[in-house]
Amino acid sequence: MTLTEKDSQYLWHPYTQHKTSQTPIAISRGEGALLWDENNKEYIDAIASWWVNPFGHSNKFIADAIYKQLTTLEHVLFGGFTHEPAIKVAEKLMEILPKNQQKIFFSDNGSTAVEVAIKVALQYFFNKNEKRTTIIAFENAFHGDTFAAMAASGISFYTQAFQGMFIDVVRIPVPIKGKEEASFDALKEVIQKHNCAGFIFEPLVQGAAGMVMYEPEALQKLIEICKENNVLTIADEVMTGFGKTGKTFAMDYVNVNPDMICLSKALTGGTIPMAITTFTQEVFDAFYDDDINKALFHGHTFTANPTGCAAALASIDLLQTEEMQDNIIRINKSHLAFQKKIENHPKVITARTLGVIFAVEIKSDSEESYYGSMRTKLYNFFIENGVVLRPVGNIVYILPPYIMTDEQLQKVYKTIEEAIEMV
Ligand SMILES: *Cc1c(COP(=O)(O)O)cnc(C)c1O
Repeated sequence: MTLTEKDSQYLWHPYTQHKTSQTPIAISRGEGALLWDENNKEYIDAIASWWVNPFGHSNKFIADAIYKQLTTLEHVLFGGFTHEPAIKVAEKLMEILPKNQQKIFFSDNGSTAVEVAIKVALQYFFNKNEKRTTIIAFENAFHGDTFAAMAASGISFYTQAFQGMFIDVVRIPVPIKGKEEASFDALKEVIQKHNCAGFIFEPLVQGAAGMVMYEPEALQKLIEICKENNVLTIADEVMTGFGKTGKTFAMDYVNVNPDMICLSKALTGGTIPMAITTFTQEVFDAFYDDDINKALFHGHTFTANPTGCAAALASIDLLQTEEMQDNIIRINKSHLAFQKKIENHPKVITARTLGVIFAVEIKSDSEESYYGSMRTKLYNFFIENGVVLRPVGNIVYILPPYIMTDEQLQKVYKTIEEAIEMV
């Protein structure tokens, strides 16, 4: 049996209808921005493998750090024990995070980072004997697939089977350019009508919605409204964190700090699954008490896995090199030039860029759904041409590893231009 035949016998893939989906491609090797399948066909990974891999596949610097940690202390339970790699990650993050973030809590993936933040927001008010049980989130948000994260997510086909089983979430519109006031007004109204504990948002870019972008000033205003009303704010930087928006964190564009931040994806450079939720001292203090019932009873077996911590430290070191910062600027300039080139194309509705993130919306005759027919046509065209891009409906986005060469980037652009002509 071939790998793909064995795969179809045993494996259940994410976000996949196995009856109608195409067979997956078996990848055997990766290096830099490139992947090779079992027949040695080469692909450019233009979405950094779901946004996790800024420094390239099989990165030797991170691999060496992981090997060293694996042969020193691969894992130890974090209940009642601690270790240097976890402490170093905390110290490193304190240097680069918004200054009000003072405590860090480890978990395993983006959804759990969000799950922890939402539970903390709810228990924060429980501990203070205040009845606040509603979470505010954006329309078309994506925060992950565990239950509270799913409740906060607004993309319906991810969540429709579970309607009626969620915590209370109310939704407000995203303050896209020209529609900011509607978003501010909706937030004020929601806060008046509900007992709101927290507001969770993807800062500046809604990834899974198709790289929908909005301005820092609008986010600042929303956070200020929350602060005036004692509603906790949660910046879900799982996608935007670690340089994607051109600054270390998207919140670095905003002049007011959130109460909590969720991190994962690029945290370990695409190597070991790990996530972190960070908090202000004030949030932590609401759990700090003689009463054990006020503690945060949440944890995961692999919490603060030392090998993951070593990978995170190596990744942050790489991010901070001048070379990597220059790469981010280079890709941003390149995207802006490409945007200018195609935004007036008759088949293009709009194109947008922030940091290394680029997105283009293509005109479609029919109402294009998330996994609609244009999406399939585009996806297959990209794969045939050796470029990994996963369009969201009629939106094609690029989120390259920062080490992608100019030549590779030009090939990605050219393939997108050809795809626009083709559909
Ligand atoms: C991917 C993502 C998540 C979920 O992370 P997982 O590791 O897939 O659980 C949460 N929030 C945002 C903004 C994401 O992009």
